Amino acid sequence: MKHVRVRYAPSPTGQLHIGNARSALFNYVFARHFGGTFIIRIENTDTQRNVEGGEASQLQNLKWLGIEWDESPDKGGPYGPYRQLERLDLYRSYAETLLEKGYAYKDIREGSDAYAIRFKVPKDKTYVFDDLVRGRLSFDSKDVEDWIIMKDNGIPTYNFAVAIDDHLMAITHVLRGEEHITNTPKQMMVYDAFDWEIPMFGHMTIIVNEEKKKLSKRDQNVIQFIAEYQSMGYLPDAMFNFIALLGWSPPDNEEIKTPEEIIAAFEPSRLSKAPAMFDREKLKYVNSRYIKALDPEVLAAKVRPCLVDAGIDIPSDQWVFELTSLFQDRMTHVQEIVSLYKAFFHDDFNINDEEMIFLKDNDSRVLLESFKEALETVSFESDPINTIIKETGKALGIKGKPLYMGIRIATTGEMHGPSLPHALALLGRERVLARLTQTIKTLRGEL
Ligand code: GLU
Repeated sequence: MKHVRVRYAPSPTGQLHIGNARSALFNYVFARHFGGTFIIRIENTDTQRNVEGGEASQLQNLKWLGIEWDESPDKGGPYGPYRQLERLDLYRSYAETLLEKGYAYKDIREGSDAYAIRFKVPKDKTYVFDDLVRGRLSFDSKDVEDWIIMKDNGIPTYNFAVAIDDHLMAITHVLRGEEHITNTPKQMMVYDAFDWEIPMFGHMTIIVNEEKKKLSKRDQNVIQFIAEYQSMGYLPDAMFNFIALLGWSPPDNEEIKTPEEIIAAFEPSRLSKAPAMFDREKLKYVNSRYIKALDPEVLAAKVRPCLVDAGIDIPSDQWVFELTSLFQDRMTHVQEIVSLYKAFFHDDFNINDEEMIFLKDNDSRVLLESFKEALETVSFESDPINTIIKETGKALGIKGKPLYMGIRIATTGEMHGPSLPHALALLGRERVLARLTQTIKTLRGEL
């Protein structure tokens, strides 16, 4: 195989979207897997749609995902410039050559000197290519009209500029979204006209939502911009992992993989032909796996600013650490700490019917009275609290569910939750004792 050169060619028309991130990611993985070069080229010829800061924010989001490139507008490289608007002279001169050779003609606007240049589509020609994902595809030239390669304002159209650039930048493999399949024959016409070697093409399937409809940027139910995931506290490696599974599956079926493992396991033949489903639950699952695996100190450092932003009072770093440890196994994203915190520390403590029946059926009153008494003198940390729970249980001959669930209901108003001694330590003496008092009174029929 010759030295692989692939490219991701975003248009700076907005923020980095999950579909674009996937194109970038697969090009990056492809380059790294085959020891090749990964290029970023900015396709900004649709000047009406370009947005201020679009290029910078997209590159920043890619970096955050852990995608690195070798040549680009910001890094330079031997095949620059890497922004199409800085290459207008090149397109113009190649268009002139096509005019001279009779592959294109002027399309003069009536009553003006301005003209566009149209490509003269060959008659009765079939364009065939072996798509890396789809296999053999073929298009008849009779289905393609003579198309504009240069507009009358001197700006090339996408299909022309992309072919010129991919050739001049020595691109060997063009991996992009399925929406570009029908553009490919037009691009092949340009290669043919110059007698250039045609790169390999690979078109990745569309991404669909859970209703199997093509994911649209307007789909409110699915968060689709990488920056949003970043601010919600999704972890870059988890996003990388999830995106890599949109239309690709690892040969060993072990889906949780680091970027390095994905690069090593990557096989273009495993790019799927079927639409890739954006499964929101799966994304949560993947991210929670990465959160679980984080060092609690590292996670606590990520949790802290979320609490601060939510205006939550932070007694100490240790407290943040304890809170984080308590919820580490339950968080799907870092920002979720705020809602978990609020649900846990809410002041409207309440025991529902089912929970009350549990307490009554298990004669929990005596347990709660003894536990409360023992708690009054203990230092309010998880270890001593744990000891008290066990000792109280032992003294009364209660263990397992009646012991732990009884105390949990009486102190948190929940039947299930995070580690009980840790939860109680975090709730703090005052709250725990007040809740125990309230529950005991209710059980005594005093409330
Ligand atoms: N600028 C095009 C896009 O954003 C790139 C298509 C291609 O990779 O050829 O869709």
